[in-house]
Amino acid sequence: MNKKTANCAEGIALSIQNLSKVYDNGITALHGISFEVPKGQFFALLGRNGAGKSTTIGIVCSLVSKTSGSVKVFGVDIDQDFSIAKSYLGVVPQELNFNQFNTPLQIVSNQAGFYGIPRKLALERASTYLDNLGLWEMRNKLSRDLSGGMKRRLMVARALAHEPKLLILDEPTAGVDIETRYSMWNYFKELNDSGVTIILTTHYLEDAERLCRQVGIIEQGELVWNSDMNSLTGRLQQETYYLDLANEINSVPEQFKDVMRLTDNRTVEIDVHRDESIEFVLSNLANSGVRAASIRNKSNRLENLFLELVRSKRG
Ligand code: ADP
Repeated sequence: MNKKTANCAEGIALSIQNLSKVYDNGITALHGISFEVPKGQFFALLGRNGAGKSTTIGIVCSLVSKTSGSVKVFGVDIDQDFSIAKSYLGVVPQELNFNQFNTPLQIVSNQAGFYGIPRKLALERASTYLDNLGLWEMRNKLSRDLSGGMKRRLMVARALAHEPKLLILDEPTAGVDIETRYSMWNYFKELNDSGVTIILTTHYLEDAERLCRQVGIIEQGELVWNSDMNSLTGRLQQETYYLDLANEINSVPEQFKDVMRLTDNRTVEIDVHRDESIEFVLSNLANSGVRAASIRNKSNRLENLFLELVRSKRG
């Protein structure tokens, strides 16, 4: 590698190129996805259940074998030198996978030991991260006695034990209470401010909006969106409503065809920009012969977004 290429690679924390995965049962979980996460970034990998997020993360961590494509962590190809790539990586998987009969102090310090960190330093690190994550008081208790939120935080402390440059959080706030969720958000922000690159997979749009500056969206094994968070939230400047109609229609009026979709001839879905008043839109619709009998919000914004992206991708 020449000097210029080496410098360039250092600026990219994770590079995924043409990554495909076909499982033994014939399911194609990834159809050749490519994306890069720059160093220092806080990247959200969004997608519905079954979209391919865990498969992607599993391949990066070498827990899942890829069918084709390449993965580089800070310029190191995982096929060529996984032990170096692994030393850069910290992963918080979805499922709790520590020994419930060990104490938090043992779990975190042993993890540091696996990465060759001397015992004294490992204990210091474990103390620091347990303290940072509000687990200091619990350090010598059996882990099985920790609350659900504490167990999640213990997973984070363990992932930090060898001070990785790239932290991957797979649905870290799934099932935690609101207070734990907010305190985890703050801590992740602090870590990112201190220079740790973070990738967060989630299907909570709020987590991603609050924390991340770049966002990729996977849908059915394809990357359907990759941009800065502002461009994505720009697309969310609209609300979608369901209208039950007072009269039957067979097609959408020409002037509404970009924003309105027919569900059946008595129900439509309509996108209304935040700057527009719904009353104004309804009176325009009535002028075109479409009268609404009732209206309700289509609530899940992320779900809306997925559908919109898939629709625009498929033309
Ligand atoms: P996500 O993390 O976004 O929920 P996954 O990566 O877990 O999605 O799954 C992507 C697709 O691959 C799904 O269709 C899922 O059923 C399938 N899949 C995941 N793991 C396996 C496996 N071990 N064997 C077979 N199919 C799998």
